[in-house]
Amino acid sequence: MVDFQSVLDDIYTNLKDEVNRGLVASYIPELSNIDAQHFGIYLKHCNGQSYSVGDWNHKFSIQSISKVLSLSMALPLYSEAIWKRVDVEPSGNPFNHLSLLELENGIPRNPLINAGAIVIADVLVSHLKNPKQDFLNYVRDLANDQSIDYNYKVAASEKLTGYTNYAAANLLKAYNNLDNDVDEVLDFYFHQCSLEMNCQQLSNAFYLFANHGISLQQKQYLTPSRAKRINAIMLTCGFYDEAGEFAFEVGLPGKSGVGGGIVSLLPNHFTIAVWSPGLNEKGNSLLGMQALEQFTTKTKLSIF
Ligand code: GLN
Repeated sequence: MVDFQSVLDDIYTNLKDEVNRGLVASYIPELSNIDAQHFGIYLKHCNGQSYSVGDWNHKFSIQSISKVLSLSMALPLYSEAIWKRVDVEPSGNPFNHLSLLELENGIPRNPLINAGAIVIADVLVSHLKNPKQDFLNYVRDLANDQSIDYNYKVAASEKLTGYTNYAAANLLKAYNNLDNDVDEVLDFYFHQCSLEMNCQQLSNAFYLFANHGISLQQKQYLTPSRAKRINAIMLTCGFYDEAGEFAFEVGLPGKSGVGGGIVSLLPNHFTIAVWSPGLNEKGNSLLGMQALEQFTTKTKLSIF
């Protein structure tokens, strides 16, 4: 058995003094004020053990990581019909890209780019009684942690600056791929992105994807087949136009967000969450990518 704690300690020592940390997201003040020096890792093993280092306990804005959780909540509610409204092909484009190629016939390329996640948000708004509260409860239950919450300031700022997301939602509406009002769907979407979690909470919430759809609390949320499919989507689409690079360097399914978080997993083995707010030019955590590359190289644990 790998000595996970010393692997995490080594990675932390290797990277903690790294000067080139990329740039923190600057499109809203709440994200641009974050100290780029933060760096933490948390690993939850399927045998029950956990390991951590650095700022694993510090909450941050999970942003696009939330798209995996909304997809996993929507899939059982809408079933396979969901794939008629959103495709499962990598886009090779940035997360907020609006080209008709990406949105062919009003069908976004995949559920992890913004346009696709907005369709998933529409599904949840249609199927949930109190969409924002029900989604929050879902994430709290998955992570087994009732302290998780939205950051309402972040959600409000996203709303003020979210022109591209409004454009995407309006385009979807024009193509008849949005059942609810643009404002209502985007209000939900901005809140889901504003969720604040730490590395431990993210590792715990994503545990079901490493465990064939069964959560940390032993509740079956997804069929094994759906858990497998979501992992496949994370592998091929989880890092926007850097999904190939992440598969190449790290070799695990995962998802990033512009808050600097990355959560990744190996089915039957572990989930791992890394946070370092400085981003590379593709919008993925610079140190986070390097940390996970070192992790799979040192442990030889990847899907390949
Ligand atoms: N809230 C951001 C947006 O929709 C999320 C972007 C991201 O994490 N890539 O633009």
